[in-house]
Amino acid sequence: MTDQQHDAQTRAVKPAMWNGWRRKCPNCGNGPLLSGYLSVRDTCPVCREELHHQRADDGPAYLTILIVGHLMAPLLLIVFEAWRPEPMVLFTIFAIGTVALSLYLLPRLKGAMIGLQWAKRMHGFANSA
Ligand SMILES: [Zn+2]
Repeated sequence: MTDQQHDAQTRAVKPAMWNGWRRKCPNCGNGPLLSGYLSVRDTCPVCREELHHQRADDGPAYLTILIVGHLMAPLLLIVFEAWRPEPMVLFTIFAIGTVALSLYLLPRLKGAMIGLQWAKRMHGFANSA
């Protein structure tokens, strides 16, 4: 393989991950990547790129917990130390905030992860179950 052929097959990582974060197809950036909340489409409805073999498994959930946990745990301590709110007020705000942030991040991190996999051609074979 020459260098030129290698370049032709190289996919840019950043745009693919950004398209995935926007929940768009990593190839064209226009078609929707997901159907419903988290299911990956079999093919892109715009460019027909095959997406059915993209599997993020529990990677997005891991990243979501990592990010939300590292944001919310110190924030909880800061809010508690600074204002000492009523326990039910503190619980209600942080329960809603944590769930909302997790639901916001999960499909976007899944898209970004699939964008990375797509760019690096890390998907498995099409017929592997
Ligand atoms: Zn597409």
